[in-house]
Amino acid sequence: MKRVALFPGSFDPFTKGHEDIVLRGLNLFDEIIIAIGYNSTKSNRYFKIELMVEKINDAFKAYPSITVQTYAELTAEFAKKNGARFLLRGLRNTTDFEYENSISQINKHLNADLESVFLITSPQFASISSSIIREVHKYEGQVSDFLPYSLTSASSV
Ligand code: ADP
Repeated sequence: MKRVALFPGSFDPFTKGHEDIVLRGLNLFDEIIIAIGYNSTKSNRYFKIELMVEKINDAFKAYPSITVQTYAELTAEFAKKNGARFLLRGLRNTTDFEYENSISQINKHLNADLESVFLITSPQFASISSSIIREVHKYEGQVSDFLPYSLTSASSV
């Protein structure tokens, strides 16, 4: 049985920190689905979801076992539908831990077959957060060092 993991998140934007978790996850899983969660009725993203799908696909084009999907439902349900028995998550600090701890308990309750697997962030990426990148990009600062693909300053919504 293939070991399929879902790597869910907003990825607004997808960063080198996320990339690191996915590539390290490949040592554990046969397939990784990067799942960009969105709410179709109330989308308040900074970077368009279509743009992120395109950029992530591009960043992993050499890895056929890594795919990208978007979803607007419970993560636990989406995992089940896609045959993913694992949820891959990254942990940067205790704030991430508090949040991930409660969300993984809920996900386990919703889908008992789903196991959450956490990787501790590589130190060189620990300070990268999507929210800081959005802020820097908004004021036309240089964000390319933090992203595994290139972006123009006109790339936001
Ligand atoms: P969410 O919208 O669920 O907070 P994000 O897109 O911000 O999702 O992040 C998805 C996952 O990636 C989460 O597990 C988060 O902890 C992890 N993550 C975010 N930034 C980093 C980073 N710099 N290094 C490693 N993991 C990260």
